[in-house]
Amino acid sequence: MTKTLDRSRLESLLSSEEQLFHKSHPKSYELYKRARKSLHGGVPMLWMMRWAGSFPVFVKEAKGAHFTDVDGNSYIDFCLGDTGAMTGHSPDATVKAINDQIQKGITLMLPYEDVIWVGEELQRRFKLPYWQFALTATDANRFALRMARMITGRQKILVFNYCYHGSVDETFITMDEEGTPMSRPNNMGPQVNPLETSKVIEFNDIGALETVLSARDVAVVLAEPVMTNIGIIHPKPGYHDALREFTRKYGTYLIIDETHTICTGPGGYTAANALQPDFMTLGKPLAGGVPAAVYGFTEEVAQAFSAKLVLEDSDVGGIGGTLAGNALSIAAMKATLENVLTKEFYSTAIALQEKFTAGVESVIKEFELPWIVKQLGNRSEYWFRPTPPRNGGEAAAAVDHELDRFMHLFSLNRGILMTPFHNMALISSETTQADVDHHTKVFREAVQSLFG
Ligand code: PMP
Repeated sequence: MTKTLDRSRLESLLSSEEQLFHKSHPKSYELYKRARKSLHGGVPMLWMMRWAGSFPVFVKEAKGAHFTDVDGNSYIDFCLGDTGAMTGHSPDATVKAINDQIQKGITLMLPYEDVIWVGEELQRRFKLPYWQFALTATDANRFALRMARMITGRQKILVFNYCYHGSVDETFITMDEEGTPMSRPNNMGPQVNPLETSKVIEFNDIGALETVLSARDVAVVLAEPVMTNIGIIHPKPGYHDALREFTRKYGTYLIIDETHTICTGPGGYTAANALQPDFMTLGKPLAGGVPAAVYGFTEEVAQAFSAKLVLEDSDVGGIGGTLAGNALSIAAMKATLENVLTKEFYSTAIALQEKFTAGVESVIKEFELPWIVKQLGNRSEYWFRPTPPRNGGEAAAAVDHELDRFMHLFSLNRGILMTPFHNMALISSETTQADVDHHTKVFREAVQSLFG
């Protein structure tokens, strides 16, 4: 028996949840009204207008896997800053390192010795010999793309349909129903039409990969090793081998963006699966939430880049960031890598994530829902379709904004913050079994109210 969703029931449940949200967040509402007078849309970043609820929750404080809001509500945080706080909020070791460093200089445009420790640790974890620093994963991606285009002399990059790599202009390309590339809908004032800079294919399509790369005009493929921004989409067996084989065969570089897939283990998906990218990029949780990002590359890339670099113009050549590699970020990165994102962190968090996934699965089974839950390391996601999507196009076709909104708001009203825009949950080593059980219970109640 396939369950069908009663849309009018969903609409009325959503409206009750909106009322409940309003009632239990009066102070957030007051702050939001005040914020609207100075912040565009009442929020610091445009996309915060998209949180479930007619205004955002204003946070009072966060620690570990929990936070409280200005109204005194407590939450289990399964969003964890969409990976930025995957370590748990304000991990003790990182806070201590920040406190120590902040007394001794924050930014100088000169290196501190600790940066070498970080470089060596990145080398050890990710098996790439050379590293550079940025402040955001977006910038790490931008800089790696520039290097790849500069070395190869090719202009095009290749990305996968419905990828997300930060606000990197070249990546906002998608395909229409016939598979013809187009600018992603609502791409806001692109600097250059992405059709000029980029090519796009579906993830897991080996045939399309070879066809596109064989034109020999693609400088670089920018890829998450497992797609995470349109649901978790695993590569099919042999896909990464084909990706590496064809990129090498046609003289195209490969950037693996580990910003989310660092949820797989201490060396990300790359180390866990012995991938051999030319570049790797990573940001978000690297410094426990303090802005920091890195990009690493091979000996061959380093040499080819150095051969073309004009040192006199290296400060105005498009790869920059006055604050990149600042002492505070470096101290936070060192402490986080040394003490927080350890093997033990992953074994604790992933074991609990398995319980989270099993909890969701048990409810899906009990109610015979045409839904699935997918897991990658300490990240799980439920999706409103009966089978795992093989690519971004299939996943995007299953997006149900109204149902998403309901699931998020229902959870929020019962003390659970899920990652926005999809139904994703991250678990840190600070999350508890009781937190996971509460999620299973609330998820069941949400399903019961929709289908019971
Ligand atoms: N890469 C990936 C895979 C991401 O998911 C994101 C952001 N969600 C980024 C890069 C960009 O990160 P930031 O916004 O911190 O620059």
